[in-house]
Amino acid sequence: MSKFEDLQLAKPLLRAVEERGYEIATPIQAEAIPIVMKGGDLVGCAQTGTGKTAAFALPTLHRLLTAGKRNPSEKGKRKIRTLVLAPTRELTAQIGDSFAAYGRYTKLRHVMIYGGVSQVPQVRKLQGGIDTLIATPGRLIDLIGQGHVDLSHVEMLIFDEADQMLDMGFINDLRRIESHVPAGRQTLMFSATMPAEIRKLASEWLDRPTNIQTARNSAPAEKVEQSVYFVDRRMKVQLLEKFLQNAISERTLVFSRTKHGADKLVKHLQKGKIRAAAIHGNKSQSARKRALDQFKSKSPPVLVATDVAARGLDINGVDHVVNYDLPETPETYVHRIGRTGRAGAAGNAVSFCTSDEVYQLRGIEKLTRRKIDIALDHPDLTSDVAPPATVGSGKSFRRNSPKPRPKKGKAKSGYGGAKSRSKGATTAGRPSGGAKRRRRPATSSKG
Ligand code: AMP
Repeated sequence: MSKFEDLQLAKPLLRAVEERGYEIATPIQAEAIPIVMKGGDLVGCAQTGTGKTAAFALPTLHRLLTAGKRNPSEKGKRKIRTLVLAPTRELTAQIGDSFAAYGRYTKLRHVMIYGGVSQVPQVRKLQGGIDTLIATPGRLIDLIGQGHVDLSHVEMLIFDEADQMLDMGFINDLRRIESHVPAGRQTLMFSATMPAEIRKLASEWLDRPTNIQTARNSAPAEKVEQSVYFVDRRMKVQLLEKFLQNAISERTLVFSRTKHGADKLVKHLQKGKIRAAAIHGNKSQSARKRALDQFKSKSPPVLVATDVAARGLDINGVDHVVNYDLPETPETYVHRIGRTGRAGAAGNAVSFCTSDEVYQLRGIEKLTRRKIDIALDHPDLTSDVAPPATVGSGKSFRRNSPKPRPKKGKAKSGYGGAKSRSKGATTAGRPSGGAKRRRRPATSSKG
């Protein structure tokens, strides 16, 4: 267990950390801070909620304060010495907030730049001279192209949520940005997952990095209770409404696959007098910020989000995550449910699985190496049997197949067919969300 005061951070940083009430460094902070302070490259595989922002922000600020102080004759002409790249505007803003908080007793300056808002104030701040630039790749490329950004003095290059940047198609932008940064800089790469593409980039861009892994790649937040409802597509909205009405929840984050779907859901919930707002890429920056601020203040208590908008958001006190649509990739499921159960708190994650999503559910269970319990409440809207999985392209899904009629109170054959059925399956107690669940036999896991 490392105390912050033992990490030899510069005094102004320690003071800010203390003020935030942090005493003990999280595992990733304890490992990363000394390495980064010494100037080493680093690959950090860490889920959100592990404290990774401070793990790079604190030693970065420390180096800005202590290493290679600016030449006094260059007074007033600050050069960008640190560049942080992040996938979304929200994450950029969040990282900026951390730099502001930890750097509040220093004279260091930072600027956040992202799309969706006017570039004028961002350019004005850049012209004023800054030490740290925190940016989304698209807007940064624009501003480099217009000659507003000079990266030739960058000493530290940090990629946050690198896997998401690749998922969002930023690879070419990242390559162009990297080519503008001097080769001798220190490079840190943080990613929630480590697919081969990330490892390849790390081997190209980093110099003998230390690898840090705080949790198993696919480890979902340990304290999150997970369950699944098998539901006909047409019944999903009603199920969500019923679930939200019953859930003892202060804040629920609902994931929708599409922006349009998110908007439709919000309209539907509002009709049913459930306070809800949507957050996705088609919303203006101010609308996204407003929705997020309101959600943080518990009003509205339901936020419907697409993955891109929600990734990396630091919202504490989300007690339920609802996977209204199952994600395309199992890793995304792990990120989603990591929104709840943060900072050691208990959390609940429920998934609504239709017949064309069974394949995704299997993928999630394979990655996380556990069977997700079947939720048994709301039997009028759901089934406790996995619908037959759609085979092939998904086009053959029998949309008109009749909804299996559940026999109330009786769990029918378990998911995976009669062979995997456990006669002794227990019915778990009601979690705070109100879902009765059946514990399913564990998979033959190798680890
Ligand atoms: P992150 O993984 O960077 O998004 O951080 C997750 C949350 O943990 C944020 O709300 C941080 O403010 C908080 N946090 C970070 N480091 C610590 C720490 N050492 N002690 C307590 N909370 C922390």
